[in-house]
This record gives sequence, structure tokens and C-alpha cells, in this order.
Amino acid sequence: MHGTNILAEANRQITICNACRYCENLCAVFPAMEQRRVFSDDSLDYLANLCHNCGACYEACQYIPPHDFAVNVPKVLAELRSESYARYAWPHGLAPLFRRNGLVVALTAAVAVAFFIGGFVALGDATVLFAAQTGPGAFYRLMPHEVMVLLFGGVFAFAILALAMSVRSFWHAIGGGPLTMSDIRDAGRAAATLHYLDGGGGGCLNEEARPDDRRFFHHCTFYGFVLCFASTSLATVLHNGFGWHAPYSWYNPVVLLGIIGGLGLLIGPLGLLRAKENHDPGLSDARARGMEVGFLVMLWLTSATGLLLLVLRATPMMGVLLALHLGVVFALFLTFPYGKFVHGFYRSTALVRFAQEKRTPVTVSDNAESQRNRR
Ligand code: SF4
Ligand code: SF4
Repeated sequence: MHGTNILAEANRQITICNACRYCENLCAVFPAMEQRRVFSDDSLDYLANLCHNCGACYEACQYIPPHDFAVNVPKVLAELRSESYARYAWPHGLAPLFRRNGLVVALTAAVAVAFFIGGFVALGDATVLFAAQTGPGAFYRLMPHEVMVLLFGGVFAFAILALAMSVRSFWHAIGGGPLTMSDIRDAGRAAATLHYLDGGGGGCLNEEARPDDRRFFHHCTFYGFVLCFASTSLATVLHNGFGWHAPYSWYNPVVLLGIIGGLGLLIGPLGLLRAKENHDPGLSDARARGMEVGFLVMLWLTSATGLLLLVLRATPMMGVLLALHLGVVFALFLTFPYGKFVHGFYRSTALVRFAQEKRTPVTVSDNAESQRNRR
């Protein structure tokens, strides 16, 4: 017995694949599958989080519909992946936030922006929103630095805790053992280069079965986010360690990192949204669309409002733009553990487990244990 209908269907299809094995060179899913003779719910979650939904196995498969076997591995693993995010969510009472996630994210952003506009007015007066503020500490004339630190420090700490607890459950469920540096290095390299997105060399396939630019736009998004995060972290060090208060000059490394990262976050999410439009809907999880689009739009808005704030920070627009930017970033942090952001953590965790299994293959007794868990 499996926990859900999707798990049961994934088990049916993966069992067919495990007999066929035609796709064994396409990605990490098939070698991981081939180490198993039976598939517990946890091992199916593991396989689902190794899959990049590139579509290559669907193109290669002789058992896709209308064949009676009706194999569609990208779709069933996409559906299972979305389901797995809620299964390991911490605290589990917040797992329903993964449902109708686009709406949850949009509402959170709207409330957060209203909260910051209201906060600026409450802490100063209504005119402060439309008055030009310049020089060091200009941002903190709208909201004191201590209040910002309390708000963002609190929401960031919660997001880290929730993500860590979720990943910990997933890691234990998929049988993760003691880590070695080579496991982390292997998984880190595969995650940083999206090694398994290339479908065995053919590339990620769009509706016309041509390689698309998904890897490039994913890199823009991921590394753009990393650079923006580095910019914020450096600003924290400069503020607390050296007493240098934002806004900073154009040539300050905080601003340069923010500009380069911000451009990545402008280009990447737009490209991924376009790739999503071109991707065959028959290979995706239709119910996850709101979550995926909502996350990309939030990343784009974070960058767009941040760059606009940089350009217009010496004008009367600064107050409204700061409220918009802080509201979007606050909502993004708050919804991190209950939206598409988690996919990077689960995929990386699955890749570490895959590196472990390459080093120490799953044994006959592990398979017997899986069988026992399944009953
Ligand atoms: S996807 Fe199709 S061709 Fe590939 S291993 Fe599975 S059953 Fe075989
Ligand atoms: S990564 Fe691509 S080839 Fe591998 S299972 Fe997923 S869709 Fe199929």
C-alpha cells in the first residue's frame, strides 16, 4: 500500500522503468532507481526530487500513451515532487500553504507592502513617504535600523529553521547516512552546474522537442539570488562592523553586487517563465503552476523594486519604493519554506544521497527494509 494515489502511480511506472532500463544514461533518477528492487514511499520521494523534468525520458519512451503502460515519468515525478514538499514541511500544520500557493504568496506580498507603508507613516508621518531623503542613513529616517533588523532577522531565522527541519526529515526518510566531503563536493558540483538537466546530452526539451535555454536562465536566477544575498550580507557587516550606513555610493561593492545580482534576477525569472510557457503541459504538474509562477514573479519583483530604488533613491519616490521593496522581500522570506524555493534544498539533499549511493550502493537488506516499510 502507498500513502497516496500519486505514490501508487509513481510506483507502477517506476517498476516498469526498472524492468526496461532503456533510459539509464539520461539522468540520476535511473541509476538511483536501478539500485532498488522495491520502492517505498520515501524512495519514490527521493527519485522525484532527483528529476529536473527535462522530458528526455518521455521522448525516448516506447510506452507512453496510447500504449497500455501509459508511462509518463516526467509528469508523475513532477506531481510527486509537489506532494513531497508538503509531506516534509515543518511545522506540518503549515503544509496546506503549498496548496493554492500562488494566491498565498500574492496575498502575503500585498499585506507586507501595506504593512511597510503603514509602518513608515506610523513611525514618522504621512509626508515622510513622499519626501526626498538623501545621505547616509536616509532609509532609516523612514524606519529605524533596529526595527528593520528585528523584522528581517526574525523572519529570516524562522525561514532557516523551517527549511532545516524540513530537509532534516527528508534526509532521514531517504536513508541519508554519515556525510563525507566527496559526497558534498559531488552533489555541490551537480547542483551548481545543473548537470542532470541535460537529459543525457540532448538538453531540456520544450514542446517542439528542441533543447531550450532553461539551464542558462536557471543559472541567471540562482547566481543572481546568491549575489543579491551577498550584497545584503556585506551591507550588514559594513553597518555593524564599520558604522557605514546605507545608502552606499554606486561604486561600493554592496551596490555592485546588488546590480549584477539584480540583473540576473531580472533576466532569469523572465526566461524561466517563457520556458515554462513553451514546456509541454502534458509533462508538468498543472496544480504546481501557481506556486512556480508566483515564486518567479516574486524574485523578479524583488530585483525590479531594488533596482528602481537604486536609481530613484534621491527622489521623492524613495519612500514608496522602499516600502514596495521591503514588502516584497519580507513576503519572499516568509513564504520561502512553503513555496517553490524549497526545490533547491530537496534536490541538493537528494543529490548528496545519490553521491552516497554511488560510493556505497544500496544493499539487498536495504531493499528488504524498504519492502517491510511498504507493508
Ligand atoms: S521511460 Fe520508458 S523507455 Fe525509459 S526506462 Fe521508463 S519505460 Fe523504459
Ligand atoms: S530528469 Fe529528465 S530524463 Fe530524468 S527522469 Fe526527469 S524528465 Fe526523465
